[in-house]
Amino acid sequence: MQAKTKRVIKNYKGTELHAKGWIQEAALRMLLNNLDPEVAERPEDLVVYGGIGKAARNWECFDAIVKTLLELEEDETLLIQSGKPVAVWKTHKDAPRVLIANSNLVPAWANWEHFHELDKKGLMMYGQMTAGSWIYIGSQGIVQGTYETFAELARQEFGGSLKHTITLTAGLGGMGGAQPLAVTMNDGVCIAVEVDETRIDRRIQTKYLDVKTHDLDEALQWAFEAKKEGKALSIGLLGNAAEVLPLLIEKGFTPDVLTDQTSAHDPLNGYIPAGFTLDEAAKLRKEDPDLYVKLSKQSMAKHVKAMLIMQQKGAVTFDYGNNIRQVAKDEGVENAFDFPGFVPAYIRPLFCEGKGPFRWAALSGDPEDIRKIDEALLREFKDDEHLCKWIRMAQEKISFQGLPARICWLGYGDRARFGKLINDMVASGEVSAPIVIGRDHLDAGSVASPNRETEGMKDGSDAVSDWPILNALINAVGGASWVSLHHGGGVGMGYSQHAGMVIVADGTKEAEVRLQRVLTTDPGMGVVRHADAGYELAIKTAKEKGINMPMLKQ
Ligand code: NAD
Repeated sequence: MQAKTKRVIKNYKGTELHAKGWIQEAALRMLLNNLDPEVAERPEDLVVYGGIGKAARNWECFDAIVKTLLELEEDETLLIQSGKPVAVWKTHKDAPRVLIANSNLVPAWANWEHFHELDKKGLMMYGQMTAGSWIYIGSQGIVQGTYETFAELARQEFGGSLKHTITLTAGLGGMGGAQPLAVTMNDGVCIAVEVDETRIDRRIQTKYLDVKTHDLDEALQWAFEAKKEGKALSIGLLGNAAEVLPLLIEKGFTPDVLTDQTSAHDPLNGYIPAGFTLDEAAKLRKEDPDLYVKLSKQSMAKHVKAMLIMQQKGAVTFDYGNNIRQVAKDEGVENAFDFPGFVPAYIRPLFCEGKGPFRWAALSGDPEDIRKIDEALLREFKDDEHLCKWIRMAQEKISFQGLPARICWLGYGDRARFGKLINDMVASGEVSAPIVIGRDHLDAGSVASPNRETEGMKDGSDAVSDWPILNALINAVGGASWVSLHHGGGVGMGYSQHAGMVIVADGTKEAEVRLQRVLTTDPGMGVVRHADAGYELAIKTAKEKGINMPMLKQ
């Protein structure tokens, strides 16, 4: 195994090209951005977010990827196999410059035990979703999805606002760190339990979290006061969720809303068992990983049991995409799935229209480029009130991490329209350098994940993973700049397969054609997947937009 190297990544900025074309330069800058200390959770280990979600397999592979991207011609394609550059092929100018396959295992071998064996031998890497596919933009990447989830929950349960409510959650990591801001953006109070104080501090520094305390009673007192006054407030509470939730039950506290975003998808690296300090946990993880996993799973069962009790007492409870219900069920908590996942509960209607976490980043590093695109979006989509409200709020509340970027849930039709607008702005010099456009793998038509994005599909097709594969293939032939196919993101090994897509708007006519194709097929696959499963809204969208589905009855 390679010795750990403490390295600090510095990204390129500005308009000077280092690679042989802007697409290669974009892949390089986005890889470096994923590992920028402002962006990544543990860059020294190449870990970007989500437990051990990495950008490259090891530092040797990282260096080789950087070197290859710098040398890559405009008619060549680099292949990445689980974070290692394995080949460069002559292809053509419109082909993707990089094709990525991360963490894929033949289904009967697709579990953490086998993955860890390969990982130890240096043969594999966990790519999570946007970590290994180089389009992570810090906590902002999830914040609008989290905001939309809480907004829809507020509409369904509390008349449209979280004002005068307390949300209890845990986990303030790369993704989970968006929760407190999303709750306060919906005017609510949030208590977020986090076992690692450095994570709490990081969220305070980046303004995702307001205050912190080590004291449970103090957290409750602050929360009650804010709830009474109808004031938005987020509180980071240092503690272990598997200990804090049962304590809160003993104290007779029931939150209005309850969820969790610890990295429960990975019992060895993502979840800290009850009763352990971080150092003790790190020691046990190294010395006796089997015991660690056993204790971690037992704690998750305790954690879910407490969530079920709070749900019975009236808390609106949902799973936030970390597979904690599955672990609890495997540990004997028979009714672990009594609370729903967030997608069937709040997000699926958006997927039916091809809406999902669309994002763009300014390769120049200049925040002014993002501001100009914000303004163009506000002009172009001025009739979409919800969207304009989001952009204004994001401008005010979200601080950038690494390359300036913006997230915004756009659907079928609008993404292609917006892609052209951005490309025109690059062409005219209104923005100073090319813009990278991409999305999370957690999108309308790019993921099969039966405990999350495809939970409870209308036709029972939850586990069918042909869809993300078709998504990756059509985006690759359409000319996306880099395309990725991963396994195990979000919910862990064996539970998901998903595809990523990134496309560069470099202002050229060729890019305009590619953008039109890819930003149509990509959200289009979301509409098609849901129409095929029988969702009325998706069928209506497909018909209205003239999507050609040979077996959709007209
Ligand atoms: P992360 O690994 O960066 O952060 C997890 C955090 O949980 C860490 O800060 C860790 O200290 C904390 N934690 C672990 N055990 C704890 C315990 N027992 N009590 C309190 N805190 C504890 O992960 P992330 O990127 O924030 O993702 C969190 C989870 O959400 C992952 O399982 C991920 O796959 C999932 N996820 C959900 C979505 C979504 O849209 N809902 C999207 C991406 C990821």
